[in-house]
Amino acid sequence: MSKKYSRKDFLRTGSLAAAGLLLGACGNDPVERKEVVVKETPFDTLATSDPVEENFDVDIMEKEGNKRYEGFRLGFNKRFDKYPLAIALPKTTAEVAEAVRYARHHNYPIAIRSGGHSMEGFSSNDDGLMINLSDMDSVEFLEDNKIKVGPGCTLSNLYDHILPKGRIIPAGSCGSVGVGGLTTGGGYGLFSREFGLTCDHLIEATMVDGNGKIISSKDDAELLWALRGGGSGNFGIVTEMVFRSHEAPPNMISHHFKARKLDPDRATAILEKWMFHTQNLPHSCFSAYVLNGGTLNILITNFAGEDNEGVESFIEGLKGETDEYKKGERLELAKKLKNYYGSKIPLNFRNSSAGFYKDFDHISGCIGTVLKSIIDNKGMIFQVNTLGGKVKDPLFANDSCFPHREYDFISEIQAYWTEDYKEMGLHQVTHDCLELLKANNINAQYFNYCSVEFADWQTAYYGKNYEQLREIKRRYDKDNFIRHPQSIEL
Ligand SMILES: Cc1cc2nc3c(=O)[nH]c(=O)nc-3n(C[C@H](O)[C@H](O)[C@H](O)COP(=O)(O)OP(=O)(O)OC[C@H]3O[C@@H](n4cnc5c(N)ncnc54)[C@H](O)[C@@H]3O)c2cc1C
Repeated sequence: MSKKYSRKDFLRTGSLAAAGLLLGACGNDPVERKEVVVKETPFDTLATSDPVEENFDVDIMEKEGNKRYEGFRLGFNKRFDKYPLAIALPKTTAEVAEAVRYARHHNYPIAIRSGGHSMEGFSSNDDGLMINLSDMDSVEFLEDNKIKVGPGCTLSNLYDHILPKGRIIPAGSCGSVGVGGLTTGGGYGLFSREFGLTCDHLIEATMVDGNGKIISSKDDAELLWALRGGGSGNFGIVTEMVFRSHEAPPNMISHHFKARKLDPDRATAILEKWMFHTQNLPHSCFSAYVLNGGTLNILITNFAGEDNEGVESFIEGLKGETDEYKKGERLELAKKLKNYYGSKIPLNFRNSSAGFYKDFDHISGCIGTVLKSIIDNKGMIFQVNTLGGKVKDPLFANDSCFPHREYDFISEIQAYWTEDYKEMGLHQVTHDCLELLKANNINAQYFNYCSVEFADWQTAYYGKNYEQLREIKRRYDKDNFIRHPQSIEL
């Protein structure tokens, strides 16, 4: 089953995956369809091969001869080194529309970049225009504690603005992730079990579609449904997002467990116990099982005022299994969250979704072998995180295209290297583990941890909603100007 991987194979995999078979069945239509009102912009119908020389006011950095170009080209993952023919740096929705007009004028495919954290480098390309939204990073409070956020706003910037005002939007934990990509792909983290996903809090969006037209989700409820978890680089460029917010908890506590020199049997036995005990955690808690080579770290965060019985029984249950337990400090929320912001500087890494899981039985057929691969290969990390709670809310399920709400766990397989010669070996380990999981019917995957290895990515990311997403693609980007190797197909 193990395939030997060459660098060429990896370069090819993207196009193979993009050409993969469509397995999705027609989904139910969860929202009432309305007549879509499309606002006209000065760039109404645009020819793809307009012979007239045009002027574009939006800041465009062409690949050749622009010293600033390089500074906007690279993303967070050093694995990707793409050279778009031009990079647009818009400051307003109208300028984004103009950037689309520029792309259409030159017949350039469009890649969209907000925070630049795509796990497969989907926010850049080599043959077209990158629309870099990093200057569109404003945070504005509206009435009723709604918050309008620019897509280029990073999570740390968002929290710097809203936590001092006592408000929170549930999101991920990495400070440099962009709100644009996080939300359009789902968005889970320390607050999801209590409040839901980031995309569940998106109540209005402005988008420039593939024709350069400015669309408001107020005119198309189905578009909002699609942008909640299915809008990453698919239909248009989201330029403004309005979120519901919650009262921010004042502080947070954490608990840490460590076990060293694990063999696969012990790593598996602890994972089973961890999965069992997380069932009793209150929704104010998040927990992660993080196996890094032979060393295991388990984390619980809790933003409730006090640890309840569920937390106590978790601690008692895991203490006996691990080598070390430490209670973390209870800190003011803004300060505590900074502990989880992660690296600010770009890294060499690969991080792929390794499936949504229901419980231990769901993975018992293969998890021991997966964990053995992690233990045997330095640089590999296998992480399982808690979901459940409010993520399962049927109202959220109805109002968004995110299809994986029944699962209590989401996992990721990560590889980190500093020396180039280690890269291919770690890709091979990742590949073998993903194949093994697939062979054991682990099929649901998270777009925000995308992998070009998922040949059936359409179903893996979007389940039965894929066909409906294709209709929306046809509505807003019928010429497929906005695309990446796993964007919704026409
Ligand atoms: C270190 C790290 C930690 C992470 N932690 C978490 C976590 O805790 N929880 C979680 O849920 N995810 C997490 N992620 C995954 C993260 O949510 C995704 O990688 C997300 O896509 C990043 O968004 P971005 O804007 O930074 O990336 P980008 O690379 O800019 O974009 C990612 C994708 O979104 C699309 N896109 C970006 N902006 C827009 C827009 N304005 N309109 C339409 N499409 C757009 C792009 O086409 C691309 O496909 C993490 C990723 C990393 C690298």
